[in-house]
Amino acid sequence: MSLRTIESLGSLAGKTVILRCDLNVPLKDGEITDDGRIRASLPTLGALTGAGARVVVISHLGRPDGEVVEKYSLAPVAARLSELLGVDVPFAADTCGPSAKAVVASLGDGDVAVMENLRFTPGETSKSADERRAFAGQLAELGDVLVSDGFGVVHRKQASVYELAEILPSSAGLLIASELDVLDRLTASPQKPYAVVLGGSKVSDKLGVIEHLLPRVDSILIGGGMLFTFLAAQGHAVGASLLENDQLDTVRGYLDEATKRGVDIVLPTDVVVASTFAADAEHVVRPADSIENTEFGDAGIGLDIGPDTAAAFAGVIRSSKTVFWNGPMGVFEFDAFSGGTKTVAQALTEVDGLSVVGGGDSAAAVRALGFSDDQFGHISTGGGASLEFLEGKHLPGLEVLGWQA
Ligand code: ADP
Ligand code: MG
Repeated sequence: MSLRTIESLGSLAGKTVILRCDLNVPLKDGEITDDGRIRASLPTLGALTGAGARVVVISHLGRPDGEVVEKYSLAPVAARLSELLGVDVPFAADTCGPSAKAVVASLGDGDVAVMENLRFTPGETSKSADERRAFAGQLAELGDVLVSDGFGVVHRKQASVYELAEILPSSAGLLIASELDVLDRLTASPQKPYAVVLGGSKVSDKLGVIEHLLPRVDSILIGGGMLFTFLAAQGHAVGASLLENDQLDTVRGYLDEATKRGVDIVLPTDVVVASTFAADAEHVVRPADSIENTEFGDAGIGLDIGPDTAAAFAGVIRSSKTVFWNGPMGVFEFDAFSGGTKTVAQALTEVDGLSVVGGGDSAAAVRALGFSDDQFGHISTGGGASLEFLEGKHLPGLEVLGWQA
């Protein structure tokens, strides 16, 4: 691993540094509900302004798909950053157009500005390398060098993550370096027993991880939206719960493989079933094999793991020496369905060893449920990125910075 560091860029005094951050924070009605990713960017920002650089922060927010979508504006993020830094942080109304150029030209040494959402331009996430390169070329005009620190997007070959790092002299920032330190400890020689807890809603994204983790871990605990695909694979009806029908055979394959390898795939034995997807939905706890056996019938939706399951998961977690958790156990945003996530989070804080939480929503969940960052070994800012790292996949946004798996 030979990630280029900020020092490799030489003196930054008076230089304009483009800082690619992942400031993709959760928002509700225009308010930031968890500013963890903004705070995680502060060490690098401090290092750059301390060195006398003029810092141009670029980031994405949400998935506006190449169009200007007001609710995905980074304006609230610039405002929050200004509060955290205690200085004025000008915000450009476009990413690299006239507003951006004017804002950048107005910066003095040690100043920080934020540009509008990268993903308002199709070139950022385009499948065409030419289109991405063209957009990266426009971004490159904003500064002299690039510091790449958006750990949450290093698994994406996107213009600001990959092509821009090829065009400009580039290095990793401090956040990426510290994330890699921890993830390295999870892969190089993790202390056993090693448990991985998976949940969340990006089911097919995360199923692939299981295959790669099977040779390395002792147990895999399945909660969140993906649990229903496992229950269905075992022949159980899951009502209106999240289900990926085309993954049933794949999932059966994982279960067989786990048995052969002696890895425990721990599935829920009970589930909280709701009448509908809503905070105030009626709900009951049911055994995992009788989800449709409620007054809601096949309209019932599983929105959390049940209390027995949560207790069993907590037991496995507490007796492990290494635990990695990605994906909430249920729809924690609704109080009634946050119990599983809370119990699992609590168990992670009691691990005698290394506990890592990865994923934007998972990190937001533990904070929303009242836990503090220092109760965990590490809270990673990247869900997909950390999972792909653990899978041993090639991460384009790191390789372009000199890193090798
Ligand atoms: P992360 O950002 O931590 O990687 P994901 O983005 O995959 O996690 O998933 C987070 C979302 O998963 C949360 O908004 C949560 O409400 C949702 N979720 C968890 N369990 C369920 C479920 N049973 N049904 C639907 N959504 C769920
Ligand atoms: Mg998420």
